[in-house]
Amino acid sequence: MKKIIIHWTAGVYYPTYYEKEHYHYLVDKDGNVHNGIFKPEDNEICRFGKYAAHTGGGNTGSIGVAICAMAGFKNKSSVGNYPILKKQFESAMALCAKLSDKYNIPITPQTVLTHYEFGKKNSKTTSAGKIDIIYIPSYSWVTPEEVGSFIRSKIKWYKQKFEA
Ligand SMILES: [Zn+2]
Repeated sequence: MKKIIIHWTAGVYYPTYYEKEHYHYLVDKDGNVHNGIFKPEDNEICRFGKYAAHTGGGNTGSIGVAICAMAGFKNKSSVGNYPILKKQFESAMALCAKLSDKYNIPITPQTVLTHYEFGKKNSKTTSAGKIDIIYIPSYSWVTPEEVGSFIRSKIKWYKQKFEA
């Protein structure tokens, strides 16, 4: 596996079957991690109907991690009824650290990134214009453009903690 791409589901706090078809790992409001229907390895070669389609134009070799939240999000002042909770955010970061370790994926902007960042770098894919993740409610001072590097710092911190 080459990349980890981080999402929010734009759904409610617990994963649906449909969401499980689209991500490899889903983190609920309590910080528990649910496995998706497909394994990361199913995305090594994407065969129709047999892989987790989480990132238009970027599924091959990519692990999809989703935080179950953000249904109804419009903007910073109208976040809807399912804002990402601190506990689930931290759990998702710890999960990404474990995955980075397990699959030997370095934590760089090219290899561990948000769906939003992927869409910005790949403007001709259906990922262009995706807004996950441009806002972290528990770290509301982090600007949309800073979220990716903030997330990578968090993941690095967890990874060092595991390795210590
Ligand atoms: Zn996404």
